[in-house]
Amino acid sequence: MDCVFCKIIAGQIPAAKVYEDDRAVAFLDINPINPGHTLVVPKAHYADLLSTPPDLAAHLMTVVQRVAAAVRAAVGGQDFNLGLNHGAGAGQSVGHVHLHIMPRRPGDGHTLFGGKPYPAGEMEKIAQKIKAAF
Ligand code: 5GP
Ligand code: ZN
Repeated sequence: MDCVFCKIIAGQIPAAKVYEDDRAVAFLDINPINPGHTLVVPKAHYADLLSTPPDLAAHLMTVVQRVAAAVRAAVGGQDFNLGLNHGAGAGQSVGHVHLHIMPRRPGDGHTLFGGKPYPAGEMEKIAQKIKAAF
């Protein structure tokens, strides 16, 4: 088993687990952007979101809601970012699907992605392509 998260789930390497049920586990990220940064992962190994069965993906979001509420209460802050990196190009470094709950505070120094407007007509074109891809 090469997967670090499977090893955590199996208890082969230590982690600060904060939640567990029959299908999911949550534990603290070893390199938090802020204290309380938590990862929610399925117990079964799926590489990424799009290869995760939809009912399990839905369960993960239910777990995220519960864990995020507990994280907020524990760290004494209201705000958080929810993150999921899908593939190396998006910064995914562990190939076991996981959601990041990242506590945030005003002025904590972290910034979100910058955006820029589409050139004229491009938004409609990409929307058409996406609709055609279902
Ligand atoms: P990704 O970049 O794949 O979205 O996020 C992977 C996350 O897993 C990173 O934030 C990283 O700090 C965390 N991580 C990597 N290895 C370990 C580990 O052994 N234990 C814990 N608790 N977190 C880990
Ligand atoms: Zn795994």
